[in-house]
Formats: sequence, C-alpha cells, structure tokens
Amino acid sequence: MRINLAVAAALVLATIPMDQRGRGQAAAFSERPSGQVVDVLPTPKVCRLRDGRLVLMHPAGSNDRQCCIVAQGDATPAATLLADRLKVKTASTLPDGCVPVNLRIEPAASFASDLNRDSRPEAYRIEIGTAGVDLLAARPEGLLRSAATLLQLLRVEKETVSVPCLEITDWPDFRFRCASDWLINVEANRWAYDWGDGRERFLARVKRKLDLCFDYKINQVWFDGFGWNTGRFPGYAELMRECSRYARRRGIRLTFAGYGGGYGTSYQQSEIYRCGYFGQTFVNRRSYPDGPQYDCRGMEHVPQSRRFGTCLSNQALCQAKLDEMKRFVAAVEPGFLYIHDIDTGSFSESGEAWLLRCEACRKQWPSDDHADPRGQAAALASWFGRICDGLQEVTTDGGYQAKRDLTVIFISPLYTHYVERRPADVWERETEYFVALSRLLGRRPNVQFGLREQFYRPAGGKKIAHLRAALDGVGHGHGIHVIAFGGGDHYQSDDLANISGAMAHFYEGAESVCLSNGGVHEEPVQILNAEFLWSGSARGYREEPPDETAAVERFQRMAKGRCRPAEVFAEGGVFQRICWRLWGDRAGNEMYRAYLVPGESGDGPVSRVWWTVTAAVRRLKAESLPAGFRWEDEHARWLRRLAATQSALKHARKAAALSDHDDVRWFARCLEIGARFAEAVALSVERRIADKPGAVVRLQEVLDDLESQIAASGPPEKTDILGGDPGCWLETLANLREINRLK
Ligand SMILES: [Zn+2]
Repeated sequence: MRINLAVAAALVLATIPMDQRGRGQAAAFSERPSGQVVDVLPTPKVCRLRDGRLVLMHPAGSNDRQCCIVAQGDATPAATLLADRLKVKTASTLPDGCVPVNLRIEPAASFASDLNRDSRPEAYRIEIGTAGVDLLAARPEGLLRSAATLLQLLRVEKETVSVPCLEITDWPDFRFRCASDWLINVEANRWAYDWGDGRERFLARVKRKLDLCFDYKINQVWFDGFGWNTGRFPGYAELMRECSRYARRRGIRLTFAGYGGGYGTSYQQSEIYRCGYFGQTFVNRRSYPDGPQYDCRGMEHVPQSRRFGTCLSNQALCQAKLDEMKRFVAAVEPGFLYIHDIDTGSFSESGEAWLLRCEACRKQWPSDDHADPRGQAAALASWFGRICDGLQEVTTDGGYQAKRDLTVIFISPLYTHYVERRPADVWERETEYFVALSRLLGRRPNVQFGLREQFYRPAGGKKIAHLRAALDGVGHGHGIHVIAFGGGDHYQSDDLANISGAMAHFYEGAESVCLSNGGVHEEPVQILNAEFLWSGSARGYREEPPDETAAVERFQRMAKGRCRPAEVFAEGGVFQRICWRLWGDRAGNEMYRAYLVPGESGDGPVSRVWWTVTAAVRRLKAESLPAGFRWEDEHARWLRRLAATQSALKHARKAAALSDHDDVRWFARCLEIGARFAEAVALSVERRIADKPGAVVRLQEVLDDLESQIAASGPPEKTDILGGDPGCWLETLANLREINRLK
C-alpha cells in the first residue's frame, strides 16, 4: 500500500494557520513534507512562500547593491563556504551598500528547541525578504544545511542572481545520512571513483562528489575499508586525510571500516572477501605476542576463525589491536570507524560463538547468557569501552579531535537478521543484549551499535524504534546504526536505480543509516537516498507495507531491482528531475532513459565488472554450484543483461554527445566494456550447455575486442591498490580466456 504523503501533507498543512507551522514539532520524524512549494531536495519540512524575489547579484558593472555574507564566530565556516560558492565577500558586520545574507547561530532558537537530539544539530530556518536573507541555526551544522538550501534556491537570469522571498524551517529525520556508499565491494573495499586516471584526478573527483553531498545534505559517506593499515600504498594516509578534512569542513563524515577482532576477510571464502585484509591480522597468543597460538571465541562451522584476535581477556592482544586503530585514526582523521568483530550476525550464532571462548575468558566472564552482566555483553562492553577511551584521546595538528569528530560503530557479534526465528522471542532477547551492552559500556559518547535492516516488531510497532526507546531508557546516549542491504550494493544486486530508501522510515530511531548503495553510476540514487533519509519520503512517496510478511516481500523485490514505482520513476517525476539537476535537461533525459531500460525485470545493464561479472566467472570456475542452479537459466539471464546493456549504452552515448560531464562519459565507457563482458559471459555459459563451433569463434572475437577496448585508454594508473572497477577488468578477461581455454 502506498500513501501519497504529499497530498496528505497538503491537506494537513491547509488546516494549520500559517504562523503556527514549523513550531512545536516535538515528533521530529517526518509525516508532512512541504511538497513542491519550492524545488529543493531534500524536501524541506516547512516552507511558506512570500511575495516577490530578492536580487542578490546584479550583472558585473551594475551600480545596484550586491550581496555580502555577514557572519561571526562559529557561523564563519558556513559563511566562508557560501561565499566561496557565490564568489562574494564575507564580513563580520554589515558593510554599507550591501544586500545582507546574515548567518547566525542561536543555541536556544525556538524552532529547534523541541526537536529530538538527532534532528536538532542540523535544524535551520531561512527567511528571505526584500531587505535580505537570514540564515539561522542552533548549531554550526544547521547553518551548513541552510547554505545548501539557499544555493538550490538561486535562479540565474541574464547574469542576475535572485532568490524567492520565503520562510523555510527544516530539519532531518536521521542524524547521519549515509546516502553514498563509494565502495563497489559492499562495505568492504574497491573505490567506486578510482577510474584508473591517477591520484590527482581521483582526488579532484572525490572533492566534486563531496560538494554534491554537501548540496544534498548527505553527511555520511562510506569511504574506505577494510583494515587499518595506514601504509596500504605510499601516500595513502595523506590522501585519506585530505579527503577527510575536505569533508569535515562541509559537515560530512567519512566512514572507514575494518576489524576489531575476527579478521574474517583473511580466511572467508566468497567473491566479496576475495581481496584479503588491509591491516594486521591479529592472532590469539598467550603470552602476547610471542607465546603459542590458541583458540577462543569464533564461528563453530569455521574452526580457524577461533584463532584470529578473538580473545577478549588477553590484555596485551587488546592493546596491540587498539594501538593499530589509534595510529589509523591519527593518520586518517575518520568521521566514523566501523569496527567489525567475528562475523556472527544472528542471536543463535553469536551465542554459539561465545560458548567457544577460552578458559581465561570463561573464568573472567562465566555466564553463557548473552545479556548477563557476567557474560558476553560484559566482555564486549569492556573491549568497546577500551576502544572508545583510547580513540577519544586522538587529536591532530589539523584541528581534528576524535572526541568531537569521530563516531564509532560496533558491528557484531550480533547485528541481527530480519529472518531470525530462533528463539521464538528473538527480537526481545536481542534488545535485552543491546540494553545490557549499553548499560555495561557506561556513559561514553559517539557510540553506535550496528544492526542490519529490520521491520516490524512481533509485539507491535517497528523494531528499531523499539530498540531506540530501550537504549534511551538506559540513558547512556548510545545510538543505533542501521546498515541495510536492499540492493545496488553488490551483495543483493547491482541495481543501478535502487529504491530501498523507500523503506528507510522503518529505521526510525537509528542515529545513522547506510543504504549500502549510491556509488559510481548511481548519483541519482545518492540524491534519492538523501531525500528519503532527510524527509522520510521521496516527495511524499514511501512504502508502508501493512505487516512483516508484506514488508519482507517488498524489501526483497526492491533488493533485486524489481521495483520501479511510478511515484518516483514516471516522466517528470523525482528521478527524472534528479537526472536533469545532475546533467542538464537533454543529457539528463538520456541518462534517465538509460536507467529505466530494465523496467522491473531485475536484469539491468552491466556497468561494473566487480561482482557482476566476477561472480559469474567464479560460478563458471566452481566445482560445485548451489542446489537448483541451472546453466540454461544463467544463459537466458545473461542474454537479457546483454540486451539491457546495449540499450542503456545507446542512451548513454547520446547523453555523452550532449554533455562532457565526467559521470556521463564514464557511464558510456563502462557500458561499452560491460556489453562485451556480458556477451563473453553469455557465450561462456552457452559453451557449458553445448559447445558449438560458432560460439567459440565469436567468443574469441569478443575477448580480443574487449582487450583492445580496455587498452584504448592506455595503461591504468590506479590510486588504491585494487584500482577501482578497472582494476579487475584485465584479470577478469584473463579468467574468461582461461575458463574457455582460449589465448
Ligand atoms: Zn579468550
């Protein structure tokens, strides 16, 4: 069931006197988007248009008053950013003869005072009248968001820049909105914006993308993983630090991921774990570091997992792990650390892993019960507390203060799955565990517990909101991070126009939400995600399934790219408008049509080789395949994907003829490569079914053509060691030759 919130909002707003709107919204979570009163994304909560427009800038040489930015103290950083973008001056007091754009921080601003702790820091008000512009916020971050809104309100006509007279009061639903996952390989690695054109261009591209995030109020980016090695390649730390600082000035936090224990990528077998671990793989040794190895907690079905840095009673081991993280934080200045432990997500797996702890751990924490203050919760709380205290001390010459600038996400053991059914009251038991963990961890700020996507609680209401209320009951200020894998993530699917943000309201109560998609070729998805995470809906559209069964069904369809609601994707709808914003009307139209090619088939164009093609190659090489797998189905699927890639490529080429935008050019280039890979996979699969001479001749041609296509842009100059998606092109080509015994 879909509810058109924009219509509902219009009705609700019509009944509220104008002067009362925007006041006293104690419940911060959006129910009433302001619709399209102004064309601003994310949609502001409350907007009231006034008559007239204010001219901020006149044509050069004009004697009319130009605008200047006026700000003092903590308002200065936002003022400087705005002035840079408008190419005007800032002043601490209003100079004569200027149209003022005043930026002001008022900690007790009434419009923010009733909001909850997640919404308040970025709440802002804009008032534009004929005399000038006032930007007001309770905190500096709110001014940054107000500046982003003001930039979208600008209209340029004949060198004259004007804004509509209006009043906007606005705040986000979620404190941290990770609308952008710039890693191709899930949350782990492979930089989406590393295009093989060297470090300088990579850095410039990342800065442009961070500007885009700023424009759409995206304040969390999944930036790098998986491991804490500051010397992964020469210059790694400097490069990351520069990105972190650029982001920080814009109120954006970059997320870096690695292990706090378990080090699963050093031994787990799957396409997503193939690239190994980028940090030190710690081993349980007593005494540490030179004593013999021993087993402690771990996954029962993966015996070697018990050896990899999992012992929590080994103080010297814990200190060594923490020292590595501290070096990383000092060198990279991250906004978030996503610290993964052993990969046990479910309640039962996490409990089984705990039963395997060593004698020393058993002595220190004798209880087998998850939530017992003498059991797993206590052991993890002790380790997490040590990490928090250690990392919070970090400060740098660049003005970074971990205490203020860093949030730590602890993920696993126990990150929960919506499919869990064991024991019958599993959600209540999981809640008890997190409550115990929070209680035992004590009052430590900037801590989040990571969970996977969740929907309805069996006892009523939504699970995440329920957990939030329980954690608030403890009162230690700990937050929830939801990492949702709803497609477009190279885990569930490589959907290029994923809509799983429409379920984001299920995560109400989370402090941060990562939708795990929105990387390269998914810029429209990033902006759509930004809208869902700020406003709770996309111009009024979101999914409101009536029960858990319907929620799961809907989510799984989205994850497979089989959901293209007309409310978002129709001509003139929000998705097309985003394409226009990004690439202009004509090129944007072609890009929009390229994204729409697969419809709800789930068999979209191939624009990235990692996972999409590499997983297919892995199946071709595999000695055994999952039950029910049929090569005939695989063949038909790759023919559909090939056709979709060719159709999308036609539109992308037209777009590239209309626009020299980086995104457009790269999309066309990657689809050209993707079409050849898709055909090569289809032919390889065809040969597995029945080897006909025609197929091998054509396959040889396709692979040779692919090789010269890849070579056409010269040898790749990779930035990260994996070299982004292009970093796996030649390797995958070689694998296809080997599988087919071709030269
Ligand atoms: Zn142990």
